[in-house]
Amino acid sequence: MTSTQQIPGPLSLVCEVTHRCPLHCVYCSNPLVMQQAEAELPTEAWTRVFTEAAQLGVAHLHLTGGEPLARHDIADLIRAGRNAGLYVNMITSAIGLSEPRLAALVEAGLDHIQLSLQDADEVLANRWAGARTHAKKLEMAALIKAQPHLAFTVNIVVHRQNLDRLEEMIALAESMGPERMEIAHVQYYGWALKNRDLLLPTREQLERSTKTLREAQERLAGRIHLQAVVPDYYARYPKACVGGWGRQLMLIDPAGRAMPCHSASIISGLAFDNVRDHDLAWLWHESSAFHRFRGDDWMQEPCRSCERKTVDFGGCRCQAMQVLDDADATDPACHLSPHHEQLIKIAEAAPAGTNTLHYRTIELLSHS
Ligand code: SF4
Ligand code: SF4
Repeated sequence: MTSTQQIPGPLSLVCEVTHRCPLHCVYCSNPLVMQQAEAELPTEAWTRVFTEAAQLGVAHLHLTGGEPLARHDIADLIRAGRNAGLYVNMITSAIGLSEPRLAALVEAGLDHIQLSLQDADEVLANRWAGARTHAKKLEMAALIKAQPHLAFTVNIVVHRQNLDRLEEMIALAESMGPERMEIAHVQYYGWALKNRDLLLPTREQLERSTKTLREAQERLAGRIHLQAVVPDYYARYPKACVGGWGRQLMLIDPAGRAMPCHSASIISGLAFDNVRDHDLAWLWHESSAFHRFRGDDWMQEPCRSCERKTVDFGGCRCQAMQVLDDADATDPACHLSPHHEQLIKIAEAAPAGTNTLHYRTIELLSHS
């Protein structure tokens, strides 16, 4: 185990300031049972968290949800993040934004905005979002672009139902004028896992999309930075999930629970301490959830004796839990895992899935 003293503070703090959201995306990675509005941390608690984060060495604050704009105090939260000295990013669908509200957020210190795009086709985009939001999103993108000091990323969420329109989606994103574009394959947690049969791309789709991506990267070079995260179902090695457990990132859920990643709650036996009871330094250095998969003591073979264990840290603990019901196992996305075939079978069986899409609905966690 790496000693607590050797662990530097996290670089990024991801704050799910609410689980409320006007959209119902079929690929939403929020948990199936969400935190209710009454359980959300108040402005003052978030303000303290941001100050402690800066003291711990955090550089980037990511305000996300749910939809962060659902919080009436979002401008106050941005101001608190900026006052603490953090670079403030807001991840949003832009639903709930308006020209005056955007101006207020920028005035409060918003540095960067990341806008998600569901499809190039309006009817289909609205279908994946479970709400008529596409037209409004395009309108808001124009307002964002008009802000001279606001950095802008368009995040295109891709899956089997839209991947064949990647070229059109990149063209639409390009027309919005961002500095960065991100192609993000759906991550199969929460609601996305419920819809996995319909969302997992085929190997052929992935191969075609890789060619589209390369061409777009060449065409946009020097103008728009295009970044793509390839799903690891068809990869040889897993991704270094969250940069390694408890190494770079801390996530706070709407009710104040501190987690090493956004889906850590699916791992049985983990207990999450709360910012209401502890400061961020204690949570990072002492909370048992952050220790659970730090270092390599927990690793099984083949990870334990693998030379890549300091590169990918054994992959994703939540994927090992979901597929193998064993959070300590080598991520089955790794071709060295004795269970790799199990993951390949899931991916290859996916096109035979049912036709029922499960939309994100509000099922709230009871605190009574
Ligand atoms: S993925 Fe969709 S439903 Fe989930 S939080 Fe984001 S915008 Fe809301
Ligand atoms: S065996 Fe483990 S450490 Fe080695 S590449 Fe696979 S997941 Fe990474």
